[in-house]
Amino acid sequence: MTTLVIVGAQWGDEGKGKIVDRLAEEADAVVRFGGGANAGHTLVVGGEKVVFHLVPSGALHARPRCVLGPGMVIDPKVLVKELAEMRARGLLSEGRVLVSERAHLVTEAHFLVDGLREQGPNAIGTTKRGIGPTYQDRAARRGLRVADLAHPDLLREKVAGLVEAWRPSVEALGGEPPSAIQVADAVLACADEILPFVGDTTDALHRMREDGQRILLEGAQGTMLDLDHGTYPFVTSSSVTAGGACTGSGLGPTHIDRVLGISKAYTTRVGDGPFPTEMHGADGEALRQAGGEFGATTGRPRRCGWLDLPVLRHAARVNGLSELAFTKLDVLSGMDTLKLCVAYELDGRRIEHPPSVGLERVTPVFEELPGWTEDVTAGRSVEELPANARAYVERVEQLAGIPASILSVGPDRAETIERLDPWR
Ligand code: GDP
Repeated sequence: MTTLVIVGAQWGDEGKGKIVDRLAEEADAVVRFGGGANAGHTLVVGGEKVVFHLVPSGALHARPRCVLGPGMVIDPKVLVKELAEMRARGLLSEGRVLVSERAHLVTEAHFLVDGLREQGPNAIGTTKRGIGPTYQDRAARRGLRVADLAHPDLLREKVAGLVEAWRPSVEALGGEPPSAIQVADAVLACADEILPFVGDTTDALHRMREDGQRILLEGAQGTMLDLDHGTYPFVTSSSVTAGGACTGSGLGPTHIDRVLGISKAYTTRVGDGPFPTEMHGADGEALRQAGGEFGATTGRPRRCGWLDLPVLRHAARVNGLSELAFTKLDVLSGMDTLKLCVAYELDGRRIEHPPSVGLERVTPVFEELPGWTEDVTAGRSVEELPANARAYVERVEQLAGIPASILSVGPDRAETIERLDPWR
């Protein structure tokens, strides 16, 4: 029996969707424990692209239950759309999706505030999906919870309260406060579709665990976007690291058996904030095109750079990573020389880990490795990879101090090299 946590080891978009999807085949439950529709998981199944924002990536398999945990903030309209998509594919049997009563609801009021802020001087490059303001309401103890969908009168009262609470901010940002009635109507219009799937997910997960079933906890975003351990304030508003998997699901730390970190073979970041290994100009553009580095949720071009080992070491520490899945190795094919950032220099000192403040001031220390020209997408074992690709992976494992149990060499499910089974 195994409870496995999967987290992004960088700034998100590491290709978690594909790896989770692969491992979900053998899971009894796949759980989202934080974030909301700001995450976009792109899966390529039989050549067809499917994007989910809220339901876990395991949704395309018949077997696992899809759990939306207490740590999530849920946009009811998006959830209704994704449930319909699952139904259309014949994947929405009874009990298939379980939504936590404790999860919070994102409303039009939260969208409005997020959008207005992002037009202002304090923009941080959010996805404008209302996530930040919803987590603010949660912390302020005035948030709407999924359980409130079953109590329309109470929900209307709460919506009126939170619209009032946001009025001064909306006006200060030059916006028009929304009508509480319309905001509540929009949420309640989704209630009938969602309520059949609502329940106590914490209890359900513990029962499954006690029963020896396999649970996969699927992280959104990445370690460097974590509210506490990321590049504050350019971070998301929730705990995306392995500790967040516990608080956001209701499973305890001793219930977690293994933590798999996903890292690309290079680095990308969406939005503002420090990015030490960023490649500017033509090189960055070439990598962006080769890797298709445009946001799944927003379509925004991603900033691209070389692989950053201090970041990977930080991810290994704060998540307690047992292993890595190393993705998009194929994207590096054809580059003459590859650079690995093995350390930073800060104020004349060499450091091996990101500083807790001052990441924007570090200078990366690079090591160069020879590239390879061969297409690697057909490789199904490490031995089939070109020698330089193998050397690159081995050097990363050595520098990060953890093994890469999975290598991804293309977007399709089959384009994967499995060296160690994370369910082992
Ligand atoms: P996630 O949120 O971490 O799942 O990341 P994305 O949704 O942004 O997924 C990354 C993108 O890369 C998707 O379009 C995937 O189909 C694609 N992808 C995943 N793994 C690989 C890989 O090994 N090689 C290539 N070329 N593309 C990949």
